[in-house]
Amino acid sequence: MSYAIAIDGPAGAGKSSIARRMAEILDIIYVDTGALYRVIGLAVYREAGMCQDPETISRIADQVEVSLSHNEKGQRVFLGEEDVSEEIRREEISQMASIVSAVPFVREKLLSLQRDMAQCQSVVMDGRDIGTRILPNAEYKVFLVCPAEERARRRLLQLREQGLSGDYDQILADIKERDHRDMTREISPLVKADDAIEFDTTGHTAESSADELIEVLGLCPRSC
Ligand code: C5P
Repeated sequence: MSYAIAIDGPAGAGKSSIARRMAEILDIIYVDTGALYRVIGLAVYREAGMCQDPETISRIADQVEVSLSHNEKGQRVFLGEEDVSEEIRREEISQMASIVSAVPFVREKLLSLQRDMAQCQSVVMDGRDIGTRILPNAEYKVFLVCPAEERARRRLLQLREQGLSGDYDQILADIKERDHRDMTREISPLVKADDAIEFDTTGHTAESSADELIEVLGLCPRSC
């Protein structure tokens, strides 16, 4: 019997690292839905820069083909035939993803793609509206929380590990801006599903969070 784990929460709360780790332990597929919004954000950015106009965004989103695949290295995402898995991680694309994700046409376009992924296989899927809208009947739902300051510190560390520099205040401001946009948009805002368990990742590593969640949810690792 297949099952779904929905993991929602704000940017930088640890969703992707925790979800990836849970998928590994449980031997199921990890679906990073934020990557899909990022692909559309990238397409808009390439054609129209930091455009915020819903009509232009809808027109571009309508023309592009977004797809994803999974291999032993994890998820890859494509804009048409092009693998854009790395390019979508750029900072300006994070903001663009958040901008395009507030446009109803974009959310509708990505809805069935996400639901199809959970149709006939077990998945752990992370995003903002997985437990509330994409998979409202998911067997397991988690809502991750973590203060913005801690999330900004983690992002700065991540950048440094990649040999890149970053400004803490700017990172914090960007995170707060994205939180605000994600939580206040009219369509599918970031909110905790009533039946989700809330988990604070402050002071936890992805490994310890994943282990604890698997235990709290009563899930069975592949070895059991
Ligand atoms: O998770 P990630 O930070 O990659 O997501 C990028 C942006 O995509 C988020 O800031 C959010 O606005 C949007 N998103 C969304 N719904 C999802 C996943 C991501 O609106 N399920």
